[in-house]
Amino acid sequence: MEPIKAAAAGGHAVQAAAGSAAGHAAPAANKKGESRIRRWQIGDVKVTSIMESADAIPWAPLFPAEASEHYKKYDWLVPTFITPEGNIILAVQAFVLEAGGRRIVIDTCVGNDRAREVPGCENLQTAFLEDFKAAGFDPNSIDIVLCTHLHFDHVGWNTRLENGRWVPTFPKARYIFGRREWDYWQGVLKEPGHVDVRHILDSVQPILDAGLADFVESNHRLMEGIWLEPSHGHTPGHVSVRVSSRGQEAVVTGDVFHNPIQFAEPEICSMACVDKEMSRQTRRDFVARYGDSPVRFFAIHFSEPVGRVVRDSQTWRFTTD
Ligand SMILES: [Zn+2]
Repeated sequence: MEPIKAAAAGGHAVQAAAGSAAGHAAPAANKKGESRIRRWQIGDVKVTSIMESADAIPWAPLFPAEASEHYKKYDWLVPTFITPEGNIILAVQAFVLEAGGRRIVIDTCVGNDRAREVPGCENLQTAFLEDFKAAGFDPNSIDIVLCTHLHFDHVGWNTRLENGRWVPTFPKARYIFGRREWDYWQGVLKEPGHVDVRHILDSVQPILDAGLADFVESNHRLMEGIWLEPSHGHTPGHVSVRVSSRGQEAVVTGDVFHNPIQFAEPEICSMACVDKEMSRQTRRDFVARYGDSPVRFFAIHFSEPVGRVVRDSQTWRFTTD
């Protein structure tokens, strides 16, 4: 099998899923020896990515199978975001923002020790927390944890398993959740059996029980130069995070985009999008607002997560930093 090109290091839980001769759980080679820890600067704001995993997976079930032909129109996607064999590279990472003496974690990946129904995500045993510390972040030093939405791959490390109990990983942080998002999940929890809610029970409810949760509006200001921006659709209360510092601009997009093919074809929805039409409109709005602008995108699920959206004849493409 070809090594998977992804910005994640070997020896980690980087897995090749179905679609390769080796099946899944084969370790992937990293690209150019890059670390699972990467850093950028937005004016005075430092951004660090800690990558939990980067998997090559088939288009279905994340995307409709028919979308698997579309990427061939966009050779810029291969091999950074789509393997030469035609599999998607799906990364899962957390971003840590450092600004004004405070530390903000945006999205907390899948987490270890979890019962999950998604292949490749059940009972993970990664070195994420060790990497987090190696990047210079004591979990006790985190001031804010912000989840763009409450899908299982964005809340996992909110907690960790200690003596059979789920305890907050960042015990001195305020955990910020969108009020609208939480209202949606409250409704889901009332209809058990419909949607897997185990991640709410092991990664969100313990935060409420510990008194660390704050529920905010979709345009909440976290601090000077860092604020939430509504980007509903993927989930009903999904938010993105805007950063502005010393004339430099960025947006942490959460799950507005899962793969950069969605810049070229914003109508392609992930199967996890709750309101598909609203998610399409949100992608079109993002491209209209931020395309051909200095605003840099920080995308949780991109293996090369940082770049700009630029015109590409009749459509748009992603160009990495
Ligand atoms: Zn996600």
